[in-house]
Amino acid sequence: MNLEHVDVTGATLQPAGVPLRAAVLSVGSELLLGDLTDTNATWISQRCRELGIEVRHHLAVRDDLDEFVDALSFLADRVHVVLIGGGLGPTSDDLTREAVAAAAGVELERHDDLEEALIQRFAEMGARMPAQNLRQARIPRGATVFEPVGTAPGFGLTILGGTRVYAAPGVPWELHSMWDRDIAPELLALAGAGATLTRIVHVVGRGESSIAEIVEPLVADRPGVTLSFLAKSEEVQVRLTVTADDAVAAREASQPLVEEVVGELGSSVAGIDEETLEDVLVRLLGATGTTVATAESATAGGISARLARVPGASHGLLGGVAVYATDAKHRLLDVDEGLLDEHGPVSGPVTDALARAARDRFGADWGIAVTGVAGPTEQNGLPIGTCFWALAHPDGRTEVHGRRIPGDRGQIQARLGTAALDLLRRRLLEHT
Ligand code: ATP
Ligand code: MG
Repeated sequence: MNLEHVDVTGATLQPAGVPLRAAVLSVGSELLLGDLTDTNATWISQRCRELGIEVRHHLAVRDDLDEFVDALSFLADRVHVVLIGGGLGPTSDDLTREAVAAAAGVELERHDDLEEALIQRFAEMGARMPAQNLRQARIPRGATVFEPVGTAPGFGLTILGGTRVYAAPGVPWELHSMWDRDIAPELLALAGAGATLTRIVHVVGRGESSIAEIVEPLVADRPGVTLSFLAKSEEVQVRLTVTADDAVAAREASQPLVEEVVGELGSSVAGIDEETLEDVLVRLLGATGTTVATAESATAGGISARLARVPGASHGLLGGVAVYATDAKHRLLDVDEGLLDEHGPVSGPVTDALARAARDRFGADWGIAVTGVAGPTEQNGLPIGTCFWALAHPDGRTEVHGRRIPGDRGQIQARLGTAALDLLRRRLLEHT
């Protein structure tokens, strides 16, 4: 797909207001055999979103030259930019250089400086370089070469039809470094004349249609804005996509809208854009100078693990106990055996006692506890999804909530964890 005005890259710039369209092309038979998950495509899409570039296709190809060239021609008809990951290694199944050269109608060209650097690199490691590694110094004629981050150089080239192609190694850290250093700056220049930006408002504790009722009127009749909803296990994402002349303008245009949506949804908003519920919690624990500990039955440590993933969690999270078996609740946290017998391990009173015990044992300000029947079978006559979560407050009070949570085992555990964390978030907000 042709870009309109020629710029420094030899490719062309977009007409104003039209967002750049891109595709990710991942290379490697392992991807199609199911041996490897294409995390590069996800990562590239996230980066494109930040740059205001619209990704239209994710495609994976085997290590086969004809199929590779075919894929390039399919994408060249549909997008302005193709972002290739992989196939730049030294072996005969690494075909990115050949395929892009064929799609551009050019030859591969030997680069003495790249050869020199390869030889030097092996010499430094005290190893003999296999002759076939010189393949990596052969780049399609006319391409801009990106210095290797590991051993494989990448490149950018405009192919037949005017589509700009970027090739980076498949090894994720090499791809990330080359992206930041070489590819993103070029893309920013190409995308400068029209950008799409998606802002995400994360909502918990509220159903999709009740959220839509509130948000839809706010977005109605706004030019350049589209609204969509994505319901996940633990949250609903409100996605606001804004198109403007460039990435900065799109961000500026989106900000008042995001603020309006957040204002209307109030405390149901658990985070904005990349910020997760856990990020917000760690931030709020820091802001209030308080700490939390958990006693987890149904999630067996999942809640504390979620908090621990956030950098800086040590300022708020003291620890947790996985008291999965009924006996463990008594032996480790002194939950009264009479209480366990009378109400059963999955019950309001036991969850209440666990939350207090977590708070007391760790000397935390807040104690979180969860119990539940995650399935796949009923437990003690309780239906699958029966769940309780409790929060012990700094003032010694405890609050307990319970309901039936829908979903499979994993979803029930995720949603129960979110319910407990969200309860803490709401109470922390009241304390700030
Ligand atoms: P290099 O040029 O650095 O030798 P390459 O470009 O030939 O690498 P591949 O051989 O295709 O890349 O992949 C190398 C490794 O990178 C794979 O074993 C895999 O672990 C990882 N990798 C490749 N493609 C992907 C992908 N799409 N998503 C996640 N990981 C990937
Ligand atoms: Mg390979």
